[in-house]
Amino acid sequence: MLINLSSDTVTKPTPAMLQAMLQAEVGDDVFQADPTVNALEAKGAALFGKEAALFCPSGTMTNQIAIKVHTQALDEVICHEYSHIYQYETGGYAFNSGVALQLLPGKEGKITADQVEAAIRPVYDWLPISKLVSLENTANKAGGSYYTLEEIKPISDLCRKKGLKIHLDGARLYNALAETGESTQAVGELFDSVSLCLSKGLGAPVGSLLIGDKEFIRQARRFRKVMGGGMRQAGFLAAAGIYALDHHVDRLKEDHAHARQIGETLKELPMVENIRPIRTNLIFFDVKAPYTAASFLDVLAKQGIQSVPMGPQTVRFVTHLDVTAEMVAKVQQALREM
Ligand SMILES: *Cc1c(COP(=O)(O)O)cnc(C)c1O
Repeated sequence: MLINLSSDTVTKPTPAMLQAMLQAEVGDDVFQADPTVNALEAKGAALFGKEAALFCPSGTMTNQIAIKVHTQALDEVICHEYSHIYQYETGGYAFNSGVALQLLPGKEGKITADQVEAAIRPVYDWLPISKLVSLENTANKAGGSYYTLEEIKPISDLCRKKGLKIHLDGARLYNALAETGESTQAVGELFDSVSLCLSKGLGAPVGSLLIGDKEFIRQARRFRKVMGGGMRQAGFLAAAGIYALDHHVDRLKEDHAHARQIGETLKELPMVENIRPIRTNLIFFDVKAPYTAASFLDVLAKQGIQSVPMGPQTVRFVTHLDVTAEMVAKVQQALREM
């Protein structure tokens, strides 16, 4: 039994999802003639109370397109220093959009309206123009922590008052909503654009949705094309996305419970320290010398348990659709035997 805790992106389609994919009606989506892609986009837009959506190959692409549409070169995006758009998108904000980022610190990957207000630049020739705020929910590098709508609302209100756009990197938004019980509709009201990964906790093999108003999506579609993301019979993939939204949202709570169970076991281990608060499906902790993250993971690998180091001493485990209760028990046992 191989247990892969590297990421929630490693899930494979379930037999029922594969069945839905095989039965998809398809067409050429570059001509907007793929009925299954169109259905997924309509579903995504409706979920967030927005006018339109765009199916893209990845969450990196949906974020990059959102930055591109919302900004011009020499503008600035305000975000947390741990943001995926800064940390893990190859510096694409500079390459694709010619913008700067203003990085803010903040507990558990979160920023506040006061911080954003202080970060907004006055208008001088020698300063970039503050144009966009990007929030991440859940926050990946911060350990899967989440914002509540109550925390987001003042930031959204401020952006509207000051004429800034606000984007949500919601790669794992549904993990946040599983904890808060809040609705996608209510989220949609607070953002100009939302990026949603279908290929993380939701368990689709490929794809992300970018959601916004009609004019935003019209421009986004052009940038998707120039980035090489115009796919043809993408309905086979979109069908997996529809299936994921219909069947894999309610079960995310199980992943969170599994993460907390593993966290309880980690607390018993003398070589483990600094376990970050486990809010959703991500588990971050440090291992003490003489262990390194790599040597710790080598021991687990011999038991068929895989993950990846997130720093010299830092390990991340991710629970997901393909991690069963039985596997969690096996992980707990392997940890106790270390
Ligand atoms: C995974 C992730 C992305 C990007 O998704 P890819 O599909 O891997 O490109 C964006 N933001 C966050 C927070 C993520 O965790």
